[in-house]
Amino acid sequence: MSEMNPFKIAQQQLDEAARKLGLDPATHELLRWPMREYRFTLPVKMDNGQTRIFHGYRVQYNAARGPTKGGLRWHPDETIDTVRALAAWMTWKCAVVNIPLGGGKGGVTCNPKEMSEGEKERLSRAYIRAVARELGVHRDVPAPDVYTTPQIMAWMMDEFEAIYGESHPGVITGKPIALGGSEGRGDATARGGVYVVREAAKKIKLDVSKASYAIQGFGNAGQFAATLHREILGGGKLIAVSDSRGGVMSKSGIDPSAIVKHKLETGKVEGFPGTTPVSNSELLELDVDVLYPSALEGAITGANAGNIKAKIVCELANGPTTPEADAILHKNGILVLPDFMANAGGVTVSYFEQVQNTYNYYWSMADIDQQLDRRMTDAFEAVYTTRERAKVHMRLAAYMVAVTRVAEACKLRGWV
Ligand code: NAD
Repeated sequence: MSEMNPFKIAQQQLDEAARKLGLDPATHELLRWPMREYRFTLPVKMDNGQTRIFHGYRVQYNAARGPTKGGLRWHPDETIDTVRALAAWMTWKCAVVNIPLGGGKGGVTCNPKEMSEGEKERLSRAYIRAVARELGVHRDVPAPDVYTTPQIMAWMMDEFEAIYGESHPGVITGKPIALGGSEGRGDATARGGVYVVREAAKKIKLDVSKASYAIQGFGNAGQFAATLHREILGGGKLIAVSDSRGGVMSKSGIDPSAIVKHKLETGKVEGFPGTTPVSNSELLELDVDVLYPSALEGAITGANAGNIKAKIVCELANGPTTPEADAILHKNGILVLPDFMANAGGVTVSYFEQVQNTYNYYWSMADIDQQLDRRMTDAFEAVYTTRERAKVHMRLAAYMVAVTRVAEACKLRGWV
């Protein structure tokens, strides 16, 4: 799957939903393409005194439901097609959690691991100088993504405000709290994922307080999932976790907070006391109730899907399950909580950040939590109901919910 052009995959997923929904040809064609896209050539003065030229992108996929929203990815492999695909997925993600935003995405082809802080700051400011006239709280609002950070968001906001000579904190989200960032953004993705696991468990009558769970990938999403699963669901036994170096397991259970501490201190999960090693592929096939793929795309494929024993698969990662695997999991009665619904907690709290910035009034963590819970629970309910009614797998059901909402907005505007 990862070898296919990601934008072609995104278009194929839409095509399947469009067929199932009987979408009219004009709306279908409109939703297959970004409505607007920009490419920028960015000269940046490097520390050695030479100027390097970077290539940047911003795609505003569809703004029918509101200003476009989506992260900025800085990656050596970044291409316009990755950005287009991610912008399409942002459109469906915002729609499935019913936040009044469209989808967008941006990026720069670069390797931030080889850049100094000064070079990153100059690249951030160059990007904003190029894109500023297309951004704004009523136009398009970027956020962090792979290899971009709250500090980068802070430089970008500062450059935007310098250009316009006004305060515009809502022009970008994922900012540090001291500059108008929101409470709860750090763990929002995992928190949202655990809320949908709670709802899914009710449907299949699984007692989550006694359920076992395993997590593949132990970064931001995976670590918070480990602790929040127990905290929110009032129990549960963590059986195994893994990162890129390998995994560990214990049938009698792993203390989530202790293994997070171990990972932060040693940089790995290996060697955690009281555990035995488990490979990344073995972890996926363990006999657990809930599996959280939280690493990379393409983890569950046609080759291993038949061996998955979990009752619920909560995709915190983007694209962990191939289309072939999806069909197998569905046939085997496994409830998959698809990525753009399961990991939508992050963009939902980004939206809350934008709202707070606009009002210049800030919510407590309790307010954020309550609002996030409601959005995630409603999204799950809409998708699950569609799954039952249309007799389709969860990912297709999520697409059907999202595409219906975006198509309705396009129609009401008179675009199609
Ligand atoms: P991260 O970089 O913090 O963590 C990734 C983790 O995956 C690391 O522990 C890494 O060691 C591990 N990993 C890498 N390759 C692996 C492999 N082959 N097997 C097992 N583990 C491996 O990233 P993150 O922010 O936690 O994101 C993880 C996934 O969740 C990505 O797909 C990302 O797109 C998705 N996601 C994250 C957020 C968010 O808010 N953080 C929001 C939406 C989606």
